[in-house]
Amino acid sequence: MTSQQQRPTPSGALARRFDQMFPVLTSSEIDRVRRFGDVRRFGPGELLVRVGKPSPGMYVILSGRMAVVSRDPLGRSLPVAEFVQRMGGTPEEMEILPGEFLADLGTLSDKPSAIDVQAIEEVEAIVVPTAQLRTLLIAEAELGERILRAMILRHVGMIEIGFGGPVLIGAVRSPEVTKLSAFLGRNGTPFRVVDPEEDADAASLVARYAPTDLPLLVMPDGTVFRKPTKQELARALGMVATTLRDEPYDVVVVGAGPAGLATAVYGASEGFSILVLDAMTFGGQAGASARIENYLGFPTGVSGQALMGRAYAQAQKFGVEFSLSTEVKRMDCTSESSGPDPALILYLADGRRVRARTVVVATGARYRRPQIPDLPAFEGRGVSYWASPAEASLCRDEEVALIGGGNSAGQAAVFLSSNARHVSMLVRGPSLSETMSRYLIDRIAASSNIAVLFETEIVQLQGAPDVGLHHVRWRNRRTRAEEEHAISHLFVFTGAEPSASWLEGCGVLLDEKGFVRTGADVISRRRPLPMETSVEGIFAVGDVRAGSVKRVGAAIGEGAAVVAQLHNVLARRRTANGQRQRAEAT
Ligand SMILES: Cc1cc2nc3c(=O)[nH]c(=O)nc-3n(C[C@H](O)[C@H](O)[C@H](O)COP(=O)(O)OP(=O)(O)OC[C@H]3O[C@@H](n4cnc5c(N)ncnc54)[C@H](O)[C@@H]3O)c2cc1C
Repeated sequence: MTSQQQRPTPSGALARRFDQMFPVLTSSEIDRVRRFGDVRRFGPGELLVRVGKPSPGMYVILSGRMAVVSRDPLGRSLPVAEFVQRMGGTPEEMEILPGEFLADLGTLSDKPSAIDVQAIEEVEAIVVPTAQLRTLLIAEAELGERILRAMILRHVGMIEIGFGGPVLIGAVRSPEVTKLSAFLGRNGTPFRVVDPEEDADAASLVARYAPTDLPLLVMPDGTVFRKPTKQELARALGMVATTLRDEPYDVVVVGAGPAGLATAVYGASEGFSILVLDAMTFGGQAGASARIENYLGFPTGVSGQALMGRAYAQAQKFGVEFSLSTEVKRMDCTSESSGPDPALILYLADGRRVRARTVVVATGARYRRPQIPDLPAFEGRGVSYWASPAEASLCRDEEVALIGGGNSAGQAAVFLSSNARHVSMLVRGPSLSETMSRYLIDRIAASSNIAVLFETEIVQLQGAPDVGLHHVRWRNRRTRAEEEHAISHLFVFTGAEPSASWLEGCGVLLDEKGFVRTGADVISRRRPLPMETSVEGIFAVGDVRAGSVKRVGAAIGEGAAVVAQLHNVLARRRTANGQRQRAEAT
């Protein structure tokens, strides 16, 4: 954003990485970029990047001056200056100068831009189209690493201060705002929540709409959505792919948790065409984990979202296509199973179809709902199945209750205890030693504001539709003694069951608990590959696979391992096709 010598001393954690965030390429690095793009000239006033539209690619500035022109959805221009200041610059240093490049993580996946970039005078730049940018990141390992690191850091900086993304306007504590904030947060989308009670600009906008329209979502280009659903939000953010190819993908991966993302990264780096579909967003259960402490190579732990966000960026670097908020409803394994290039057909909830030469089922597991009266009525109104920073911020200095005695419950209790005044952890069994890792048991014991109540279950939830949950009543299963507490946040971590019902009718064999059988576990005349299901060309990895170890590391390992087996099937098929074509030609 300015030359190296002129830069002020940055402050703050991200600001310490200012130089990495806005690197200035040397002339030899610029020369290496040239072969991936074309040089273009822009006249004064011309926009290189426009808010709300995907950027044509990465721009490396050769000469001329440009400025970032902000357009806050509420008509305020503060965020750009704030962004630069927080990252170590001053508002005057918002200009982009020669040697710098314009791109962020969204450029890799054609996401709508959050900023306008305008030429102040004649500008000359190398434009590297998105597909070529991916090639550059792989072909130029060292330079590619610098560019990708800058793109990731810019994105993290934007998330940290809610710069550039949509603005959610509504009561901060309303269930709808909570639900949409959690969704945006899980997607790694920068956003801000503005309460019309506290903000005059937001109040005047809200006055033009009916109370039933709230919350409003205002996109950076000014488009207003009234009380959007998560699907509408996902479409507006460009998460749902609008162009899916007609010809079969080599691999369609269903599920973007750690197993699916690992399959995508390792598969795409081997050259397969890959589409990943997820009913929600990337990251799966791991993305909801506040801190993963047992993942190899991270001695101080890593937030599930940070780990998964990096895997998502890495997959995009290798050219993986994603369609998130896209549920697969069912699969037809027979209709195109003959002919030279047999395909499996996946039917999506939005009515579209996708064809695949092979399918990797990585749909993991979803949380179980315990039998508590009125529990569904309080979901999103005080009852949560995740403990992400969005939920934690609502519990500041309040008393919370949490059900469960497994590792995910333990992690959530420790995470919430740093925000909440007190955490009551309700466990059905008489101890934690059978169900929780030792390090978490020790950490809970060392926390002064976590109380573990063994052999205890919830018997009643009280609240009202407008305010949500306000009281929780529980009972000791042995003594039958009951207690009632003024609690408006209840977290449920009672295990998960496999998400495999969408495979029904496709001939994929499941075990008695609904997990997908693979390899030697499949009883059939055909001998499937180790992770292949009872249907040829359909594989299963991660938590959904019968016999898998339900851990992040195991899911990633399986995603990597299945790629060799995909190779095997695809190569066999290519050979058969070649032989058939040769036979037809003679
Ligand atoms: C709160 C929490 C904390 C955890 N902490 C740890 C930890 O510290 N260490 C550890 O090793 N493990 C931990 N785990 C377990 C770990 O997260 C899982 O083992 C791992 O995420 C499994 O990965 P997966 O890719 O197989 O499935 P998942 O992570 O479950 O991902 C499956 C994905 O498939 C999608 N999906 C499901 N059905 C469909 C469909 N029909 N169409 C499209 N998409 C679909 C889902 O939306 C989801 O994104 C934790 C789990 C939780 C819930």
